[in-house]
Amino acid sequence: MAELILAPGKERSVMRRHPWIFAGSVAKLAGRSKPGDTVEVFNDRGQLMGRAAFSPNSQIRARMWTFDADESIDHGFFKRRVAASVARRAVHPQLAGQDGVRLIHGESDGLPGVIADRFGKVVVLQITSAGGEKWREAIIAGLVQATGCECVYERSDSDVRKLEGLEPRSGVVYGELPAGPLTIRENGVTMEVDVVSGHKTGFYLDQRDNRLLTGQLAAGRAVLNCFCYTAGFSLQALAGGAASTLSIDSSGPALESAKRNLALNPQLDAARAEWWEADVFEALRKLRADGRKFDLIVLDPPKFAPSAAHAQRAARAYKDINILGFRLLNPGGILMTYSCSGGIGQELFQQIVAGAAVDAGVDGRIIHRLSAGADHPIGLAVPEGEYLKGLACQID
Ligand code: SAH
Repeated sequence: MAELILAPGKERSVMRRHPWIFAGSVAKLAGRSKPGDTVEVFNDRGQLMGRAAFSPNSQIRARMWTFDADESIDHGFFKRRVAASVARRAVHPQLAGQDGVRLIHGESDGLPGVIADRFGKVVVLQITSAGGEKWREAIIAGLVQATGCECVYERSDSDVRKLEGLEPRSGVVYGELPAGPLTIRENGVTMEVDVVSGHKTGFYLDQRDNRLLTGQLAAGRAVLNCFCYTAGFSLQALAGGAASTLSIDSSGPALESAKRNLALNPQLDAARAEWWEADVFEALRKLRADGRKFDLIVLDPPKFAPSAAHAQRAARAYKDINILGFRLLNPGGILMTYSCSGGIGQELFQQIVAGAAVDAGVDGRIIHRLSAGADHPIGLAVPEGEYLKGLACQID
């Protein structure tokens, strides 16, 4: 096995259990190693720190599989890690009885670059690291064994695979996809999950709890849902008794799926739902020009800053939509605003939103910090900035 020797002082983050080793932290690689191969990680004094997956094409040159010098990386390792991840969800009361649950959350579950979501009897797997790719078969076998699922569908088609030198790959890798549209129940609402061509794994499970909260806050309110995708927030708002919903997305297929979702829920009053296929930045300005106002606004944009390098431009975009959001609120109105940008941490996001309120000329306060659900744990050493963060702000 090749040996990766860290530069002096660079073992500190590894000792804190952060799984990433950046190219600049590597003093040398002794021996030959192909992408995804396991390497032994040593500090500059020759002490074995653990084992990692080697990734020669990426700035993240290696991702730690284990911090235990005695643990070997083999099929059994992945079986144990996958089983432990699945078991972690099984004990959580908020996840009991959910049709849609994230079973593996990458780094936070000790499986860097591996995501697995369960939608009923189907598990969707996404691999974004060379190491995950190398152990793909073992991970699939582990998932089948730990879940008893009928089908594993692979959606390894994320752009970040390019950074690892990996080709996109999608399709059934175990069993068969059930015929017809796959649906799940989420907080009493039926939602279609398109595992084949939906975004990411087909559905944004990380917003489940926040969609529920939106429903709980929605009674009697005029709701604006920006970047609505398949309308998860809008349908929860309608279920919670919203007076009206305006849902905006630039994607035609997402809106079609959103409307199908509404039709799947005859208990909801479709007459209250309005849809706009539009760019949110333009739509918010048009709503302001038209003098429209809302009592509850959801801003759940795509990642504006995939990494810290994009943070400044992204910060302007976040501020822009948040200013517009605050300006469209009636007195007492609530803005539920999110960022899933790895390059923007919780603290910076709060500063941006606070600045937006000032620029919008409103007096607001945070009434709730919003985060991803219990099935999206954040590893002790993995920064929160990598994951979804959000704020619910109420204005006077
Ligand atoms: N809130 C959703 C997930 C949002 S994903 C949920 O709970 O499921 C982000 C969405 O933003 C995508 O559907 C994408 O089509 C849309 N989008 C991206 N850029 C946009 C823009 N400039 N204007 C409008 N929609 C946009």
